[in-house]
Amino acid sequence: RDAQRSAARTIRFHGAAGAPQPIQIALAHDLANGFDTGRIHPWFQPQISTDTGELTGVEALARWNHPHHGLLTPGDFLPTIEASNAICRLTDTMIDQSLDALATWDQQGCTVPLVSVNFSLTDLRDPALPDRVAWLLDRHEIGAERLGVEVLETVLHHGTDQQVPNNLKALKAMGCLIDLDDFGTGNASITNIRRFSADRIKIDRAFVRDIDTDRDQQGMVAAILTMCEQLGLETLAEGIETPGEYAMVSQLGCGHVQGFGIGRPMEREALPGWLEKLQETCAAASIPAMLRP
Ligand code: C2E
Ligand code: MG
Ligand code: MG
Ligand code: MG
Repeated sequence: RDAQRSAARTIRFHGAAGAPQPIQIALAHDLANGFDTGRIHPWFQPQISTDTGELTGVEALARWNHPHHGLLTPGDFLPTIEASNAICRLTDTMIDQSLDALATWDQQGCTVPLVSVNFSLTDLRDPALPDRVAWLLDRHEIGAERLGVEVLETVLHHGTDQQVPNNLKALKAMGCLIDLDDFGTGNASITNIRRFSADRIKIDRAFVRDIDTDRDQQGMVAAILTMCEQLGLETLAEGIETPGEYAMVSQLGCGHVQGFGIGRPMEREALPGWLEKLQETCAAASIPAMLRP
């Protein structure tokens, strides 16, 4: 699979400005097929509590298992999806498949409290968004409190568009958890955090990298955590890769963690086995084995 991933890397086309690359046109052509065949689907990355070491949720991350190009990640195909006006279809597919995975895990006795999906600005501007979400929750008979809505901090800049805060308020009222993604990278004001109904802040990996040895990183994360505590917001540190990073963010009081050091994004079938291993190694200490220094 790693070989497949690096093969996919070689066809990256985004970043190159100007005319669409041939690969982009080819992907646009394959898009409908990708959706229809289920080759565009979520992988899941675990999130755990620093208090208990238990699984508190998973983030759904889009993957495209392309017949010719191999396994593609969002950096490879999100620009194509956006250019093809298919972003709402992607979101609906991700919610639908994620709730389907939740229902299956429930049947298998594998308890996943929450699945979080990444929403785009286009979704948040759609007056029908709360109905779309309610319909999908209904269809899978899953409570809204088990669906997380991840919104990029940069979306908060679009504060003049009243539809965005209205939609977030409606989703929160239904019971969904609102996550502010990549926090610290989009210069949002504190006023906006309130106005956009955030329940939890996801501290971007940029602040977490080498936090165990870098005093500036520690200071910034400590400041963010203090602010969140004052505002009654939950916190999650993204991109935890090493035992040292884990130890420092949990010592500073961050509530949840996610990252390659905890678990990489995986297919739905792999999660029950992963969780079983976490529970075995967690029985003694509240730190997953792979994170013990
Ligand atoms: P994100 O929402 O911030 O998701 C976290 C990204 O960081 C994922 O990349 C994940 O694989 C990666 N990551 C997780 N742990 C680590 C770590 O320890 N170290 C490092 N270096 N990276 C880590 P991915 O899956 O490539 O997704 C990239 C971005 O694409 C996501 O960032 C999200 O903004 C977007 N995205 C993913 N799925 C969807 C989707 O279904 N819809 C939309 N609109 N956007 C999506
Ligand atoms: Mg996210
Ligand atoms: Mg993020
Ligand atoms: Mg990101």
